[in-house]
Amino acid sequence: MEDKEKLPEIETDSMEAEEAKKGTNGQEDDRDYEKVCYICRRPESKAGAMVSMPGGIYLCHDCMQKAFDALNQNGLDLGQLSNMPFMNLNMGELSNMLRPDMAIPKKQKIKKKTEAAKAYTIRDIPAPHVIKQRLDEFVVGQDQAKKVISVAVYNHYKRALLDRQGQRQDEVTIEKSNILMIGPTGSGKTYMVKTLARLLDVPLAIADATSLTEAGYIGDDIESVVSKLLTAAGNDVEKAERGIIFIDEIDKIAKKQQTNARDVSGESVQQELLKLLEGSIVEVPVGSNQKNAMTPMATVNTDNILFICGGAFPDLEKIVKERLAKKSSMGFGAELKDAHEKDRDLLMKAENKDLRNFGMIPEFLGRLPIKVAFQSLDKELMKRILMEPKNAILRQYEKLLAYDEVKLEFDPEALDWIAEEAIQKETGARALRAILEDFMLDIMYEIPKDPNIGAVVITRPYLEKRGGPRIEMRSMGTVH
Ligand code: ADP
Repeated sequence: MEDKEKLPEIETDSMEAEEAKKGTNGQEDDRDYEKVCYICRRPESKAGAMVSMPGGIYLCHDCMQKAFDALNQNGLDLGQLSNMPFMNLNMGELSNMLRPDMAIPKKQKIKKKTEAAKAYTIRDIPAPHVIKQRLDEFVVGQDQAKKVISVAVYNHYKRALLDRQGQRQDEVTIEKSNILMIGPTGSGKTYMVKTLARLLDVPLAIADATSLTEAGYIGDDIESVVSKLLTAAGNDVEKAERGIIFIDEIDKIAKKQQTNARDVSGESVQQELLKLLEGSIVEVPVGSNQKNAMTPMATVNTDNILFICGGAFPDLEKIVKERLAKKSSMGFGAELKDAHEKDRDLLMKAENKDLRNFGMIPEFLGRLPIKVAFQSLDKELMKRILMEPKNAILRQYEKLLAYDEVKLEFDPEALDWIAEEAIQKETGARALRAILEDFMLDIMYEIPKDPNIGAVVITRPYLEKRGGPRIEMRSMGTVH
């Protein structure tokens, strides 16, 4: 039976007519706005015509139908009804309306989609050198990675554009440029992806591979990553279809060596990810990550979604080292072998063969054709991360103290100390903030006490707890 036939007719209430009139009163034209379904929160342009209910609530056809289906099939199953905020809402209880999930969604301004779509040309995709320049403003070092990623991203969006314009040629199919990032923890993988999404103005979903399991097992199923992206895109399927999905800790789904138990979170997850990575059409719930009878579904094509997988691959260094050592012992002998022992950037030399030995299946690696290695951060890079990026941590503290008209400075030896401590913690640049917070707390607490203080210089002895910071008073000389 047609959906329409099953639905009872509901009179459009007078409120709607009144609202429509507003447009002629010189106020904002109501035709610029569209109604939003109270249950699934999709606007009219996505969910179709709305049925208006008393109290300024609108319901889309799907949700209305599901509500009636629930009543017809199961009698009055209150368990199911509680999945639907509106049905569960006691209108007499005004306080209910204040709960965020119960609030009546506001009408949304209609996007002038056609104009935006027309304007989208190859010139709207930033060229690789522009992408890299923008990344440089935030991400320190990792030059090779930035270059590879800028080109991959440029090609990815070019491919998507050709696809949109129906120009993808049959003879020359441009393959997807999904990316695999290999690098130690805290070296800027996630940060790079976040910066990239921001500068490209595309939605981003970040998922953890360790929480993904084969469908039907406890954990998030694979498609939940697409659902997350759809949420990040404000449930706009078109926007989600050109977004980025970052799957972190991908090394944790390596094939388990010699195991009798079913490998539900390793090899099988890699297998299930294959479809998404190469592009497929998936049905995902809208506005929730749970599929049930009440949640409306949206169809998302993952073909133009850029997938980036990242991981630290801790034992990969050993595998690369062994391979290189084997090669050199056949040829030039011990000298080279020693060089590999000391090489801090062995991950940069990783090949597909090494990744396969690590436990990644060949089909999976094949769908991540762009591989980039991130350098482990040395002392110099750590110091640069402290000072250089647009939103560098030191700059943030400087700004905070500047509000009190106090100048914050760091002795070069103090910066050395911070970088050395961070390296020891082995969590990459992530350690920097924690180290700074530790001693800046006292500074931020003590300094505003005395309005005569004009500058604070953080010294190495202060950080080593052998002395205090150097304090400079506003009008007088230096005080120790
Ligand atoms: P991971 O490589 O484990 O994904 P993250 O990208 O989460 O590491 O890095 C943690 C934090 O460290 C970031 O939020 C960022 O502030 C800082 N950071 C790491 N690497 C860099 C870098 N190369 N340049 C600037 N900041 C960085």
